[in-house]
Amino acid sequence: MTVHTLTLLGATGSIGDSTLDVVARHPDRFAVAALAANRNDEKLLALCRRFRPRVAALADRAAARRLADVVAREGLPIRVVAGDEGLIEVASLPEVDTVLAAIVGAVGLPATLAAARRGKRILLANKEALVIGGRLFMDTVAEGGASLVPIDSEHNAIYQCLPPTYARRPEQAGVRRVLLTASGGPFHPHPDVDFDSVTPAQACAHPNWTMGRKISVDSATMMNKGLEVIEARWLFNVQPSQIEIVVHRQSVVHSLVEYVDGSVLAQLSNPDMRTPIAQALGAPERLESGCAPLDLARLSTLTFELPDRRRFPCIDLAYAALEADAAAPIALNAANEVAVDAFLNGRARFSDIPRACASALERRTLTRVASLDDALAADAEARALARAALGYQPSGVEDQ
Ligand code: NDP
Repeated sequence: MTVHTLTLLGATGSIGDSTLDVVARHPDRFAVAALAANRNDEKLLALCRRFRPRVAALADRAAARRLADVVAREGLPIRVVAGDEGLIEVASLPEVDTVLAAIVGAVGLPATLAAARRGKRILLANKEALVIGGRLFMDTVAEGGASLVPIDSEHNAIYQCLPPTYARRPEQAGVRRVLLTASGGPFHPHPDVDFDSVTPAQACAHPNWTMGRKISVDSATMMNKGLEVIEARWLFNVQPSQIEIVVHRQSVVHSLVEYVDGSVLAQLSNPDMRTPIAQALGAPERLESGCAPLDLARLSTLTFELPDRRRFPCIDLAYAALEADAAAPIALNAANEVAVDAFLNGRARFSDIPRACASALERRTLTRVASLDDALAADAEARALARAALGYQPSGVEDQ
């Protein structure tokens, strides 16, 4: 039995909770070397007491100081590191073979890239890192001798439906298309909802999944599916025309792969992130995850329909960005992060989110991405354009 030594980036979030739940079920298989988050020092302290990592990292320096004080007072054998360099350090620890990347947003890219350069087994939930990293990210994974296993339920489903030897060559594997399922979020089945007046609480009330607030809003605008189209393009090296979105309200079929002979393989399970996390953590073995068994007879009906692209323009924005140039997905993601943050903080309407994204895509000037610096410049330009479109200045803490 292989024992994996783990760094968990985003330990205090929703994916962090699910991951540590699975890890705690298999104490003989996993050793937690490092836990990292942003500023929630109280929760990270509780996790440190329970999982005893060797290193704990907080991006926020004041929060890291508070954590270091308590760790010292309690005599815990844990080193506390801070800032972006602290995140990179825990993603690069020599004794760590597996890095689970579950920071939310573009801010997770540098640490995830560091893990790629060090040849780690990367279990990726942080889809924004791949959306903005694109080809650069995939090249770094290959050059660093790293491996990449998707945690996002749709991509993990596709990963499970592809042959284990899949070498990112769809034609060689006989893959015709991948079909990404989408729950549609809280608003797709309700054509009368007024997008000018929905509240953050309504947008975050996902029918099937309990997730962090940013991805919940992305799910409500269906930008989440757009980001996942871009994620699928890079993970599996399929063309945008080979990626189809199907609305499937029940979130039981997590995605499908269609082969040239007409076979369509799907992965099913209850909507519980512990299933893809356990699959990725344990592969090639299967681990008990705590997810309830699927009761098909009780479900009785599984439905599929096309998404309403007129009411949810974020889908077409994502396809257009993928077809445009390497900087377009970066701009789309950055503008979306700014707009979602503004919406969650009461500074923008729900309907402003696609508007700000479209505006940033139209008005950007940077289109070339040959390095991480180019990517960061395109990201910064789009954030400024999105703020201008929304007519507000940031308070300085909400979107880095
Ligand atoms: P949450 O908001 O619940 O958690 C976010 C995590 O990221 C927290 O640990 C937070 O720390 C940390 N974080 C935020 N900013 C920084 C920063 N600047 N530096 C270091 N850490 C930071 O998000 P989720 O767990 O829902 O999502 C995480 C990622 O996984 C996202 O990319 C999301 O799209 C993806 N994902 C999530 C799914 C889900 O079911 N939740 C499903 C599929 C993908 P702190 O608490 O200290 O702020």
